[in-house]
Amino acid sequence: MLDNFAREINYLRVSVTDRCNYRCVYCMPAEGVPMHCRDEILSLEEILKVIKSSTKLGIRKIRLTGGEPLVRKGIINLVQGIARIPQIDDIALTTNGALLPAYATALKEAGLKRVNISLDTLKPDRFRQITRVGRLQDVWAGIEAAWEEGFEPVKINTVVIRGFNDDEILDFVNLTKKLPLHIRFIELMPIGVSDKFPADKFISVRQIKAKISQYENLEVAKKLAGNGPARYYKIPGAAGSIGFISALSDHFCGQCNRLRLTSEGKLRPCLHSPQEVDLKASLRLGLSEEELAEVMRQAVLSKPEGHTMNARGWGDNNRTMSQIGG
Ligand code: SAM
Ligand code: SF4
Repeated sequence: MLDNFAREINYLRVSVTDRCNYRCVYCMPAEGVPMHCRDEILSLEEILKVIKSSTKLGIRKIRLTGGEPLVRKGIINLVQGIARIPQIDDIALTTNGALLPAYATALKEAGLKRVNISLDTLKPDRFRQITRVGRLQDVWAGIEAAWEEGFEPVKINTVVIRGFNDDEILDFVNLTKKLPLHIRFIELMPIGVSDKFPADKFISVRQIKAKISQYENLEVAKKLAGNGPARYYKIPGAAGSIGFISALSDHFCGQCNRLRLTSEGKLRPCLHSPQEVDLKASLRLGLSEEELAEVMRQAVLSKPEGHTMNARGWGDNNRTMSQIGG
């Protein structure tokens, strides 16, 4: 359906859990965040009911995220259930990759189409510092598992933080010369923990591009499956490509086609606006799919035209990215 600003809303990002096996420094506090207990979060059946209802509004594409979606029990059954909904033509997953070696085959068989894997550094020690608990080799094994299962394209989400990993931008670019990896450099957003980061930690897409163009000529790459707001480029002859997501410096609100569902059942029309609609309450009152779709329609009509987030903050610092669903 069209929202009030003539944007076609056809994409739902579903956070299946607020739990995570990592504690990335820009996403979660070291001690984690207070977890919801089992009946506070939507059951798999409830998630499926929301997705079925959303197809009545024209949702066609689903991305599962979290927290870490692969720590949610029953994730394979959920993917299977979504794949059986005829109106849904694309199911993707955003993961830290650590559990992909164990799950990639089952996910593929269940009907998952694509994966985005988060990786902010190529250095093992730094990887441990950023994730606090993770091992770089596990994520590499996850990337290899994704290739082996034929997930295509395999995209890598790389959040760039000044003084932290901006010295590795070219190393990531060089990876794409030989490997079919599609790196998306993402501007750090001041959400949750990173809202407290000093402003000089933020590095804009323009600055990232300038670092790359000192050494490499980039040409515009052809559109990849599932490309949303990222603009893609490549080094001539490279196996992979490079994209940029500039949520802060160059808002893409005018092309935003998405809604978010948090793990505790709040429908969020905009990542950067605290405004939410409580679908869990509607589900537990026993609303039919049609009635639920009507509640969702009203949420779409309340989607703000744009956000006002900038490097100095965004005004809803009570929630971390892992809680909202990145
Ligand atoms: N655990 C999974 C993962 O890491 O891919 C999925 C959830 S995670 C919240 C989704 C994406 O959000 C990751 O690529 C992560 O790097 C990104 N992210 C988390 N906090 C962020 C922030 N403050 N600014 C920009 N991106 C952030
Ligand atoms: Fe977990 Fe992903 Fe957040 Fe890292 S970015 S703490 S892996 S949810």
